[in-house]
Amino acid sequence: MDRHSRIYVAGHRGLVGSAIVSALEKQGFHNLVLRSRTELDLRNGAEVDRFFEDQEIEYVFLAAAKVGGIAANNEQPAEFIRDNLLIQTHVIDAAYRNGVSKLMFLGSTCIYPKLAPQPLKEEYLLTGELEPTNAPYAVAKIAGINMCQSYNRQYGTRFISVMPTNIYGPNDNFDLYSSHVLPALLRKFHEAKEQGSPSVEVWGTGNPKREFLHADDLAEACLYLMEHYEGNDIVNIGVGDDIAIKDLALLIKKVTGYEGEITFNTSVADGTPRKLVDVSRINALGWKARIGLEDGLHDVYADFQHTYAVKK
Ligand code: GDP
Repeated sequence: MDRHSRIYVAGHRGLVGSAIVSALEKQGFHNLVLRSRTELDLRNGAEVDRFFEDQEIEYVFLAAAKVGGIAANNEQPAEFIRDNLLIQTHVIDAAYRNGVSKLMFLGSTCIYPKLAPQPLKEEYLLTGELEPTNAPYAVAKIAGINMCQSYNRQYGTRFISVMPTNIYGPNDNFDLYSSHVLPALLRKFHEAKEQGSPSVEVWGTGNPKREFLHADDLAEACLYLMEHYEGNDIVNIGVGDDIAIKDLALLIKKVTGYEGEITFNTSVADGTPRKLVDVSRINALGWKARIGLEDGLHDVYADFQHTYAVKK
């Protein structure tokens, strides 16, 4: 990949895709090809074919997907499996047929078995039952991994797959119903401070642990692997460290400057007790996360306050 390569970032408006675009621009890659959902519907194979035939794409970051929290996954299982299979199948196949030099497929750690040991090593893929609430999404992602591997074997392509842990950053979803815990708590603490509420409610016991990687770190890892990694083996991208939800709440309380109490609503489910990835493979390849959680939270909070103020 050089500064003039024609690089297509699929999903450039999302949390991950937008961070990849910023990282590419910062490093001087100027020949980016970007299409919004209305300009190019990746679920439509004919549109995808036409796009690849016209654009002479050399590198693809496949960060487009239908994503959502537990509620959305539960309510729209058919859309989660259909849209993701369509998007990835069209892009991967068109990339092959149009001679793309290299493609990166972005998966998720929900591809690992529900009861796999922690930290999650790459070789645990397909060794057990999936978590049922997001199985349609996970099965689509597993199909994408296998598709990249199969195309490499049969057609000699260079399609690699990476599995990011929980990502946070600017451009996240801050909707209280459908978002993940980190953006939800940032918003709850911010609003409680603004409104002078005496307490903030955290769901569950606060005991589950989660790992959080800043989107800018993820984007750097993606660029690094695109330039330095070849192979069929999937690669986890994470921090290698996690934090209990109650400690995350305390940290967010500090970052937002909220001074009230924290309560735990134990009538809400905790979900998986722990979800930590093993990062020895990516560390051995020469990459490590740099942005600490507290710094990352300050960054996202600044961005949130700005957007929030504009929307008001
Ligand atoms: P998960 O990682 O797939 O379980 O998804 P989430 O990020 O939604 O939830 C992670 C953990 O944070 C769960 O134990 C939730 O119960 C807990 N949690 C605490 N407060 C909140 C909140 O306000 N929103 C969300 N989404 N989760 C919360």
